Amino acid sequence: MKRIVILGTGGTIAGQARSAADNTGYVAGTIAVADLVAAVPPLAAFAIDAEQVAQTDSKDMTFAIWRALAQRVAHHLARKDVAGIVITHGTDTLEETAYFLHRVLAPARPVVLTGAMRPAGALAADGPQNLLDAVRLAASPEASGVLVCMAGTVHAGCEVRKAHPYRVDAFDSGDAGPLAYLEEGVLRRLRDWPRGDALGLAHVLRDDWPRVDIVLNYAGADDALVDALCALGVRGIVAAGTGNGTLGAPLEAALLRAQTGGVAVLRTSRTARGSVIDTPGAALPDAGTLTSVQARVELMLRLM
Ligand code: ASP
Repeated sequence: MKRIVILGTGGTIAGQARSAADNTGYVAGTIAVADLVAAVPPLAAFAIDAEQVAQTDSKDMTFAIWRALAQRVAHHLARKDVAGIVITHGTDTLEETAYFLHRVLAPARPVVLTGAMRPAGALAADGPQNLLDAVRLAASPEASGVLVCMAGTVHAGCEVRKAHPYRVDAFDSGDAGPLAYLEEGVLRRLRDWPRGDALGLAHVLRDDWPRVDIVLNYAGADDALVDALCALGVRGIVAAGTGNGTLGAPLEAALLRAQTGGVAVLRTSRTARGSVIDTPGAALPDAGTLTSVQARVELMLRLM
């Protein structure tokens, strides 16, 4: 029997609505992770340790929860008897947590995040199947790294993003595409598991995380937000540019002033896919293939 640790953090997968027909008007993060496990009979085939790390709607995710989660993941990864870890999580910021864990821990064993788009008591709840798939993936001897398993599709934690606000198949990996599919418990792998250099847990075990915010370029964007952030003492700014990371003149001028004043700036694209392609001589560095929220996590980690 493979031992799998399931860490609960809340989300819609642990959410409850008044009516089974209501897929949007529910309260996220109310059912204990042990009860989610008990509701999926095939999980009896695995030795499972269920642990509640948090119980939140992931739109309210905090740095304190991230620190606690990274600590619990690192603790269980140090156990020789644990084959893999599953994290139940709200879908709204799942991609940020996945990127954070990838950069901090870059584990060799699988750490699989999953969630649900419909609350636990919905007529056709997706959580139970997602949880079973995530456990099967975490128990797979070939799986490795921070992974996300939703709707039978496996994504790399460093590439995944929420791409739809409502549909059950809500995640994709941009241009990179999925890593694998999980079909009736059988893994159909398309490409290599994610790798990376771990920054290490010690890197984030502090409570003075640098403030990094995101600003957007759009028609009529001016310098007011960037100047206000600088007045607040921001340490980093991700500028989600139009197209290939382009910025309107007043916004760009404000960001250049901020950079000269010591604020770290990274450009991304507000488009949904692709990469910012490096332009020779660009005065503001770009974040390549990272989405704006991934770039924000990256910048925070670099500034620590
Ligand atoms: N607001 C919920 C959350 O992120 C949405 C979900 O889980 O699907 O916790």
